[in-house]
Amino acid sequence: MPGPLRRPLTADVAVVGGGIVGLATARALRQARPGWRVLVLEKEPAVAAHQSGRNSGVIHAGVYYPAGSAKAELCGRGRALLLDYCRQEGIPHRITGKVIVATRPDELSRLHDLRHRALANGIAVTVLDPTGLAALEPHAAGLAALHVPSTGIVDFGAVCAAIAAGLEADPDAELWLGAGVAEVEDGTERVTIGVDRGGRAVPVEVAAMVNCAGLHSDEVAARAGLPAGVRIVPFRGEYHELRPERRHLVRGLIYPVPDPRFPFLGVHLTRDIHGGVHAGPNAVPAFGREAYRWRDVRPADVAGAARFGGARRLARRHWRTGLDEVARSASRSRFAAALARLVPEIRVDDLTPAGAGIRAQAVRDDGTLVDDFAFATGHRTVHVLNAPSPAATASLAIAETVARRVIALLDG
Ligand SMILES: Cc1cc2nc3c(=O)[nH]c(=O)nc-3n(C[C@H](O)[C@H](O)[C@H](O)COP(=O)(O)OP(=O)(O)OC[C@H]3O[C@@H](n4cnc5c(N)ncnc54)[C@H](O)[C@@H]3O)c2cc1C
Repeated sequence: MPGPLRRPLTADVAVVGGGIVGLATARALRQARPGWRVLVLEKEPAVAAHQSGRNSGVIHAGVYYPAGSAKAELCGRGRALLLDYCRQEGIPHRITGKVIVATRPDELSRLHDLRHRALANGIAVTVLDPTGLAALEPHAAGLAALHVPSTGIVDFGAVCAAIAAGLEADPDAELWLGAGVAEVEDGTERVTIGVDRGGRAVPVEVAAMVNCAGLHSDEVAARAGLPAGVRIVPFRGEYHELRPERRHLVRGLIYPVPDPRFPFLGVHLTRDIHGGVHAGPNAVPAFGREAYRWRDVRPADVAGAARFGGARRLARRHWRTGLDEVARSASRSRFAAALARLVPEIRVDDLTPAGAGIRAQAVRDDGTLVDDFAFATGHRTVHVLNAPSPAATASLAIAETVARRVIALLDG
């Protein structure tokens, strides 16, 4: 007697998440294995609804990351792939260069450390004195600056839209919007995924699943039975915009020297591809994974964070910096003062609030932040567990790495 008939697979591989990493991974899988059918599952009604559509739009050169790290390697390769892709698809982008400005004597040695890091990563940079800085950014002021000519700008939402359009035109790829992954069973022969599609429970069966769920990647990994190694702690980054008549104060990208204890770069001034100049992002705790304003509170996320020892230890260690950031969030004049360290002419009236993004930052149980990109493999599942900045720049290279892991799982 033949056994009970199993339903055919919905697709060969399902990718959870229609942000830039998920979309790029679906594309990379279709390119690497043209015979495989790929399905992207995105819970929102549009792609790039979270980090990928709410960021600074900077194509990072890769100066910040330790040589040999996944960030250094994938940022460099991803940047080159991204520029090729933008050229090929006609997506507006520009290599503007950027300056990292030391405004206090104690920042000078850190600026020189950054120079060495950049050179170790094969990135050409130049140290500028105040006159050299003024030649590039006439309104910036500092003791010295590092010029990184290869930094650029793009609208990552436009990159996502182009990749999504390519998938939609591909008969062997599908993109389900409004399709939230509620359950995952990582079985021996297949992965069974419970999808909530507009309130309807739809079962999806695939040979392998990739988790690119960003702010929810730890939850999706837990649903697939992956041991809880790290958890996502959401950090909101708020932006302001320079009023149009003050945009002339910034020609390109002006950054502070980052505090090496944190993975965030400090509030900076960035001319975007549409001609505006935005300022930010700061880094304040968010009361929910998608809580874009102070008044947005998601009790389940707050309770989850309170139970997580890593978040409590992180808060104990960094409460002073956290309070400074919260104060700067509450007061536009403090925000303006941080920017005026870089461009002294900036006044509080020059700024108008301009939305926020939330970083998906993985934190270990001991309260330390996971600095590098992090991936894990389950039985028939591959998980992107930490993909904060520069993951948008690196997305096409991250996608290659993830696709290789999936191919190794399925091809053996
Ligand atoms: C404020 C800020 C500024 C940044 N600036 C830069 C920058 O200038 N340059 C740069 O390179 N990087 C930058 N980054 C980082 C970059 O934006 C992110 O690293 C990148 O967008 C991550 O992409 P992702 O696809 O992993 O995540 P996301 O874009 O968050 O996508 C994840 C997707 O998964 C979906 N999802 C979640 N759970 C489920 C589920 N259960 N079922 C179905 N779908 C689900 C979500 O709806 C979401 O669309 C910045 C990030 C922030 C927040």
